[in-house]
Amino acid sequence: MAGTAQKRARVGVMGGTFDPIHNGHLVAASEVQQQFDLDEVIFVPTGHPESKPSVTESEHRYLMTVIATAANPRFTVSRVDIDRAGVTYTIDTLRDIRKARPDADLFFISGADAVAQILEWRDVEEVWKLAHFVAVSRPGHQLTISGLPEQGVSSLEVPALSISSTDCRNRVSRGFPVWYLVPDGVVQYIAKHHLYRSS
Ligand code: NAP
Repeated sequence: MAGTAQKRARVGVMGGTFDPIHNGHLVAASEVQQQFDLDEVIFVPTGHPESKPSVTESEHRYLMTVIATAANPRFTVSRVDIDRAGVTYTIDTLRDIRKARPDADLFFISGADAVAQILEWRDVEEVWKLAHFVAVSRPGHQLTISGLPEQGVSSLEVPALSISSTDCRNRVSRGFPVWYLVPDGVVQYIAKHHLYRSS
């Protein structure tokens, strides 16, 4: 029918190493989905992070992300970063997602500490054009970066982000439980594959 304009889809792109994914990530994605009225949030586990020489094998991080997000109909997981060879750059992530979703408005969601480095990211000028950025932070954290384009970045404090992947890994390596910090299926996946054990 003439005159019926279709609403553009609003798609979140949740980028992170997810080593492992934890409940703070899930609460953050859910909060951003609700506050920005997103139709979907695509979790994109990083393949080879720029400045981390040793992270858990990408297939493990991908599968834990699939397990953690399976119950939420608005959450999906993409392999674009783990299937691409070489270091992961957000410009490539966004180009790939843009190709798959040419008609969607993209919202790149990540930790405030990561987003604070954005001006140093590859092809930053194009990065800005491809997505709006949402920096999610732990309580008390202020995003302070100057030189960002107006309206290019929003920030959102998420109390559940007091959980951290580093703390989860340390707990497992010391034999402490991570129940209720990560989804139950992820607790079981970590145990089954002996992840994060010291030696
Ligand atoms: P990171 O340095 O490991 O994380 C920095 C902080 O942000 C940590 O406190 C981390 O907590 C938190 N964080 C990371 N991802 C998060 C998320 N999705 N939601 C909430 N908190 C999050 O960052 P990273 O994981 O390597 O990278 C984050 C994203 O930025 C990835 O998509 C990565 O590809 C991109 N990135 C791009 C470039 C580039 O293009 N040059 C450079 C660096 C990063 P946890 O450890 O608890 O997650």
